[in-house]
Formats: sequence, C-alpha cells, structure tokens
Amino acid sequence: MKEYSKLLLANKAWAKEKLELDEEYFNNLSKDQKPLFLWIGCADSRVPAEEVTNTQPGEVFVHRNVANLVVHTDINLLSVLQYAVEVLKVKHVIVCGHYGCGGVKAAMGNSDLGLINKWLRNIKEVYDKHNYELNNVSDETLRFDRLVELNVKEQVKNLLKTTIVQRAWSNRDLPHLHGWVFDMKTGIIKEVINIDAHSEIDTIFKYDFRTEEEMSNSPIQ
Ligand SMILES: [Zn+2]
Repeated sequence: MKEYSKLLLANKAWAKEKLELDEEYFNNLSKDQKPLFLWIGCADSRVPAEEVTNTQPGEVFVHRNVANLVVHTDINLLSVLQYAVEVLKVKHVIVCGHYGCGGVKAAMGNSDLGLINKWLRNIKEVYDKHNYELNNVSDETLRFDRLVELNVKEQVKNLLKTTIVQRAWSNRDLPHLHGWVFDMKTGIIKEVINIDAHSEIDTIFKYDFRTEEEMSNSPIQ
C-alpha cells in the first residue's frame, strides 16, 4: 500500500466512527467555528495541538511554523492572528514550544543551512538577548532546554508588540497571552509565561489608538 493511502483509509474510518457516535456530527461541525484558543505551535510532527490538549475539531484555531516564532513581518502569522483575534474573538493566544526542538537546536549551532538561516536568525537574537544567562549554563542540554523556554517567552512578548493584540486590549479585555513548553518525554505542558490583557507594555512598543480629535481634547498629549 502506498504510504499516503493509509491516511485516506484512516480518514474514512474516522468519519464513520464519528457518525456512529453522533449522526449530526458533521452537520454541526460544518455550521460554524467558535474556538476560544489560538495556538501558535511548532511544525514538529510530535506536537499536534489538538492531540496534546485533548481537544476536538472546532476548539482550537491553529498556526504552526518552525520553532513557533512570532515574527513581526510574517504576513502569514499576522493574518492568522488578526483573524483569530478580530473575527473569531479568541480569548486566549497560546505560543507552545517544545523541548528537543530541532529549530532551536539548529539555531544554537553554526552550520549554514541555506534559506532557513534567515528564519532561525530570530532564535539567535533570543539567544543573544539572554546571552549572559545562557552562557552560565554549562550543561548543553540544560542550556538547550532554557533557550526553548526563553524563545517561547520572547514570542509571547512579540505578540504583545503587535497592534492587533494592543487594539484588541483597548476595545475589550481579551485576549490573554500564554507561553507553554511541551515535554514529549512526559507528555506534560509547562507554563512559562502568562500575560493578562491590559498588562504593562514597554513604552517604546506601545501604540496610542486615540483619534486626533480625542488627543486634542485630552490634557495628556
Ligand atoms: Zn520544534
């Protein structure tokens, strides 16, 4: 059997099983989606969002890329974020990395990997920002694990720097931002950062959404 045929057969079996449990399952699924969560995860095949959170189709809006990066020029990520926040009105945005991440590992090395150098450069910048802490961790595995955590934290902070999140915060008290790391040796997710809506934003990254008229009427200009 061709490898891919296995997937199509499994799909038919899955659809049959769903219908046996609930004959309206696909009628309901096709109506609408109201996910509460946006998941920004790594493309690694061992970290499927729905599987590791035991969620069902319709519960999590998902974006995945190499090493779960939030890059402020990535039109793909930003489009997903805008749609999730402004249209679906998700309540939580989760960046989930994982220990043993190949992207993070590659960024710690010095090999020329071609095009992906440019993507991994974002992780090298995280390393550089936390150079002092990381270089004081002599055990290479522990240093790798710590960079995975720091990378997740920085990506969550990158969400905070977007006008998409800041405008949503100025209009409503959502979304909350979360940084998680999945440990595939235990199956458990570790929380590394939580940022509630309306948390403090570094001044230099903070946008003012007041109109010119509102600003001219305000004592604080
Ligand atoms: Zn990864």
